[in-house]
Amino acid sequence: MTRTVYVNGAYMPEDQAKISIFDRAFLFADGVYEVTAVVGGKMVDFDPHIARLHRSLDELEMACPLGDDALREMHEELIGRNGLDEGVVYMQITRGVADRDFTYPEDAEPTVIGFTQVKPLIDSPQARSGVTVVTIPDIRWRRRDIKSTALLAQAMGKQAAKTHDAYEAWMVEDGYVTEGTSSSAFIVTGGDTIVTRQLSNDILPGVTRRAILKLSADAGIAVEERLFTVDEAKAASEAFLTSASSFVLPIVRIDGQQIGDGTPGPVVAKLREVYLKEAAGA
Ligand code: PLP
Repeated sequence: MTRTVYVNGAYMPEDQAKISIFDRAFLFADGVYEVTAVVGGKMVDFDPHIARLHRSLDELEMACPLGDDALREMHEELIGRNGLDEGVVYMQITRGVADRDFTYPEDAEPTVIGFTQVKPLIDSPQARSGVTVVTIPDIRWRRRDIKSTALLAQAMGKQAAKTHDAYEAWMVEDGYVTEGTSSSAFIVTGGDTIVTRQLSNDILPGVTRRAILKLSADAGIAVEERLFTVDEAKAASEAFLTSASSFVLPIVRIDGQQIGDGTPGPVVAKLREVYLKEAAGA
């Protein structure tokens, strides 16, 4: 089926969508993006995605070409036109088209694109089986809090995971886990305490991470936002990852080492259940 995509105010079949070779995202990865989950044709946690988009744009001194209502309308229109029931909407805003020069152009019009992707989020085989991760050095730049389209280090990491038959790679800096290539990283220690790295420029402030921390607190589950090492993760009773495109997934092996009894544990099962309920009702 040909998807309908969005380019700068127009909806069109995907094979008719065109972007200039001078677009700054193509030449410099000078753009930001958001990926919002869709369940039952409705978006999950859209407002925090838009808040993070504004933050990323502000950090790069880029103007937002559309108001929040127009951004929501664009997402809803893409969901409607493509009959998307479950999956994601991808949106990207770039600094626009200008002759190649490193400094920011003064009069470029931002480029805005959007498209949908079908993906099973609720009934996920990975949630049933659990997934495996490998650890790799974090070779990214120092502003990982900005959701920029500069994702080559993450693509290399995901490829390293694939080479090792793993689902995800956890990136490690100074001995401490930063995050997954496209997900936030969590462990469960002492049987009932959730640990995840504190927010800083070192990691992306995950929208799903935020929701999980809130749901955990509401459910009376202790949360520690702090650094943790690979060794601590390998010794944890459970480990899991979160992202808009996978929600909450249990991790059953890290670098080949079994976590807990090697099957999805009770804390992550509970969190996934609570999160799915919230997502479905959103
Ligand atoms: N960390 C990184 C590096 C990511 O790329 C992502 C998502 O793409 C996440 C964390 C999870 O963020 P979210 O829950 O907002 O999808």
